[in-house]
Amino acid sequence: MSKNVDVVIIGGGIWGLSTAYHLAKAETGRSILLLERKSTLADETTRQAAGQIGQLRSDPLMVNAVNYTLNLLRSFEASTGHDPHFVQTGSLHLAHSSERMKSFEHQLTHAEKFGIQAEVATSELIGRIAPEIALESIQGALFVPGDAYVNAYACANAYAKAALDLGAEIRTGALVNDILLETDSSKCVVVGDEKIYCNTIVSCAGPWSVRIASMIGLTLPMYPIRLQQARTQADPEMPEDHPVVRIPDHSAYLRPEEGGYLFGFFDRDPLAVNLLEKPASFETRDILPEVNIIDEARRVLKSTFPILERLSISQYRQGMVTCTPDARYIVGPAPNVAGVYFGTGCGAMGIAGSGSVGRWLSELVTHGKTEDDISSLDPSRFKYQEHENIAEECAAIFRDYYALKSVTYSLGEE
Ligand SMILES: Cc1cc2nc3c(=O)[nH]c(=O)nc-3n(C[C@H](O)[C@H](O)[C@H](O)COP(=O)(O)OP(=O)(O)OC[C@H]3O[C@@H](n4cnc5c(N)ncnc54)[C@H](O)[C@@H]3O)c2cc1C
Repeated sequence: MSKNVDVVIIGGGIWGLSTAYHLAKAETGRSILLLERKSTLADETTRQAAGQIGQLRSDPLMVNAVNYTLNLLRSFEASTGHDPHFVQTGSLHLAHSSERMKSFEHQLTHAEKFGIQAEVATSELIGRIAPEIALESIQGALFVPGDAYVNAYACANAYAKAALDLGAEIRTGALVNDILLETDSSKCVVVGDEKIYCNTIVSCAGPWSVRIASMIGLTLPMYPIRLQQARTQADPEMPEDHPVVRIPDHSAYLRPEEGGYLFGFFDRDPLAVNLLEKPASFETRDILPEVNIIDEARRVLKSTFPILERLSISQYRQGMVTCTPDARYIVGPAPNVAGVYFGTGCGAMGIAGSGSVGRWLSELVTHGKTEDDISSLDPSRFKYQEHENIAEECAAIFRDYYALKSVTYSLGEE
């Protein structure tokens, strides 16, 4: 059995589906086939995500990337007819130390420079939109009214439906088990007994990207690290416009979900998962919930959110955050094979950047270059031999996600 298409996208998570949408929308006449190994789309990392879209980022490229995604998703249903479950109730950033509050004040200046609306939150505002927060436990807070969140599963499926409307083909139950490099311009993607010939391959296989890379003899310096979340039972007192709450001094975040609180915790001793040592069938659901981590999170958070002690946990949810040594995405051409592109290394911010990643990969396929300068995301920026202890390097990035000088929390002028 064989088939010919122009572009094969590997992976039906949010990045692959956004790429399919942007490529189909570009109307280049190329035939597009997306291959997803599971029977359901967006059922791996994407399904676990909290879906938060925060604008305060370390470098202008990511500020603009998130801004594009926000604008795209805000109007996505109106422009495509498919609902990404976008909720724009802003975000509160809590300070538990004077250093953190000082860093927030510093961020206000930079936020203004990037046109991001942000303000110091008054007690009245916090009391109205997040009344469960014990005000005496915090030094202050920042409010970013334009921040949002989506249901990541719904959002990915909205990208998928829009891509289908525009002529892309999406196949589930299609595990890519090899890539054969026929000639410079022709490649063959192997799915079971079937050979799919194409000119271009875009790999958006999330944490499994290391396996796709190894099929073309490439090593990607990235490592999946487990992130543990839990959702509480419903709180009938929760205001409808409850924002996302970031608690950087406790390495945690919290937002409303199904009437309860979904909260996640970047633990100090994170589990790194080596997917090259796992079978091809390894899934997110093979990672067991770590109840201890949630107990620790509740212990740390209880002085700020006494309610977390009272509400029982209705769901444990964990997934793999694919980290890189410099906490940047990997987006660009494979350094060793022309016509193969990678989009991975999403950190815990792949939903927030999903629109831009899809746009960049589509531009690379269509024009060989992107409108934005994404050289800082190029896969070839790493010298793998300099990253012998990649698992530990990536675990350190994960651990420091909310550190004071963290990339997500200093709007520096890079
Ligand atoms: C607990 C948690 C909370 C998070 N919260 C947020 C958040 O609030 N905001 C945010 O921006 N980001 C968040 N993230 C990160 C976000 O989930 C990811 O960045 C995003 O989902 C990555 O999407 P992806 O498409 O790259 O990967 P995935 O969703 O993992 O998709 C990859 C797909 O490739 C498929 N695949 C793999 N190998 C093959 C193969 N050989 N053949 C065919 N298909 C294959 C897989 O089955 C999978 O469906 C969070 C992550 C976790 C784990």
